[in-house]
Amino acid sequence: MEKVKVELKENSYEILIGENLLEDVAKFTTLPQFTKKVLIVTDENIFNIYGEKLRKIFSNYDTNFEMEIIPAGETSKSLAEAERIYTCAIESNLDRKSIIVAVGGGVVGDLTGFVAATYMRGVNFVQVPTTLLSQVDSSVGGKTAVNHKLGKNLIGAFYQPKAVFIDVSTLKTLPEREIKAGLGEVVKYGIISDADFFSYLEKNIEGILSRNVEVLKKIIKRACEIKAEVVSRDEKESGLRRILNFGHTIAHAIEEQTGYTKYAHGEAVAIGMIGAAYISQFLNYVDSEKVLRLKNLIESFGMYTHCEGCSVEGVYKLLFHDKKTVAGKINWVLMKDFGSVEITDEVPEKVIKMALEKIIQDNRGG
Ligand code: ADP
Ligand code: ZN
Repeated sequence: MEKVKVELKENSYEILIGENLLEDVAKFTTLPQFTKKVLIVTDENIFNIYGEKLRKIFSNYDTNFEMEIIPAGETSKSLAEAERIYTCAIESNLDRKSIIVAVGGGVVGDLTGFVAATYMRGVNFVQVPTTLLSQVDSSVGGKTAVNHKLGKNLIGAFYQPKAVFIDVSTLKTLPEREIKAGLGEVVKYGIISDADFFSYLEKNIEGILSRNVEVLKKIIKRACEIKAEVVSRDEKESGLRRILNFGHTIAHAIEEQTGYTKYAHGEAVAIGMIGAAYISQFLNYVDSEKVLRLKNLIESFGMYTHCEGCSVEGVYKLLFHDKKTVAGKINWVLMKDFGSVEITDEVPEKVIKMALEKIIQDNRGG
């Protein structure tokens, strides 16, 4: 089992990465500092595949556990769904020393984390992320949230888990498109902080796409290490943490313009990273050959490099909607090299639009 420590003073915790870790999760909940009451939250798809196994494993341990199953999909990230979980927690007599375990992707993790942060002003939270995206992204950082009808992730809190268990064997059942969506964020780590990691990805496309467990463990571990390093230096997102936003300003605009249905978040991030790389090229931060290498890697993973159903003007306008756009100023994370980025709010409108044209109007291969 591999370990990544997330250093956040009194909120520090470990990410454990390995195969068949569900047993370790159950064992963890029996540690003496917790009352032996556990609420497991998962979604219906994951329950169908892993529900029986979870039940069997937890039954072998001396804890009382309840399972709450939510519908799969983004619409479950709601206050209404949170309320159902609060009700279940109250009815199961969960107290401040009990544990709520999230078994699932970003939807289950964000919603359950939000409930754990607010139920009785905070109960112990354990995360078992089961999508590649949640393993490399939301297992570090402590962001929890539900959506409001007027916007995504508007109601939330920073709340750190007590431990994260990344069981890479769960990726075997993940739909292909979800793997690709996760790879968007994986590539991002190579750009923002680790050139060797970027090269490793280029050399292991086959292994990644065939879900070789050793390769997956390695990339997940490195991604978690990089994010942990950034987050521990900037827990509440004031400075350094902004580099994690590489590709995201454009991605959020693409997601919004396509109604959050056409592209998964990670797919939009992949396109957004190419856009940000073009901006970097046009401002002479980076040469065109490196931009091409980024684009080629994304293409080799079978991800989109261009978006359809968007317009340059439409996306441009939506860039200013982003939560992270403050007083009309966009903090652009630009690529200087593999493993190196720089933040600037000085990018001329013309340059942004030229870059958007490259990812919107170019047809594949352009
Ligand atoms: P994320 O926000 O992490 O991309 P979601 O929570 O929206 O992910 O999950 C994406 C989809 O994949 C959901 O339909 C979910 O039920 C399903 N899913 C999650 N983990 C697995 C898994 N290990 N095997 C099969 N399906 C899964
Ligand atoms: Zn993201």
